[in-house]
Amino acid sequence: QLSARLATVGAFVPQGARVADIGSDHAYLPANLALNQRIEYGVAGEVVKGPFENAQHEIQKLHLTACLVARLADGLAAIQPADRIDTITIAGMGGPLIRHILAAKPAALVGVKRLVLQPNVGEATVREWLAANQFKITAERILAEDGHTYEVIVADKTATTIHYTATEQLFGPFLGLEKSPVFVAKWQRELERAQTAVAQMQQAKVAPTEHLAAAHAKIKLIEGVLA
Ligand code: SAM
Repeated sequence: QLSARLATVGAFVPQGARVADIGSDHAYLPANLALNQRIEYGVAGEVVKGPFENAQHEIQKLHLTACLVARLADGLAAIQPADRIDTITIAGMGGPLIRHILAAKPAALVGVKRLVLQPNVGEATVREWLAANQFKITAERILAEDGHTYEVIVADKTATTIHYTATEQLFGPFLGLEKSPVFVAKWQRELERAQTAVAQMQQAKVAPTEHLAAAHAKIKLIEGVLA
């Protein structure tokens, strides 16, 4: 049984996909997809030996070695041309790390049609990278589980030029329009956090002005979306 977070990521993996799950840890996500005959083939990539061994163990235990392979590798280096990967999932990491992993090995993205990403924080930087690299966001989800709020971003390769405004980057082109209760609660918390940060900077009188300006700009954007 997958967590609601990983089940949401899995729901956006196309039927019959050849998927690479990067930072797979126990390979729970690709193993679940393989067990449910949702994927044709999967790679579970891990850069750390312990989690890699967890993935290997899980794949053997579930008798999935015919269609799922664990690889010890940094980011997209887990993907080999013969895998013919068409879908990449990356979940449970910060947005800057997800962006770094995607940017580090462009050759591995050739042939990839869909990315399903679940950054724990820093979603805006992921959306910025997607637009700059012609991955168009086609769906988004926000959910709360175990006291945390998670966003899932689905992006498909496109030939057209994409631009997201600062508002769309921060809140998500879909989530920012939908404004679900989970979304509103998240951004009310973020607003309070930003207001506290501004108050502290003003009190300390040492904050570089660009930090203060950035915090004010963020507050304005949040107030705008919550209005
Ligand atoms: N994806 C699973 C999930 O969402 O439940 C596991 C998330 S776990 C918090 C993050 C995993 O990413 C860790 O097992 C870590 O070793 C792995 N990781 C971090 N940087 C990586 C990289 N550059 N390449 C591959 N795996 C990485």
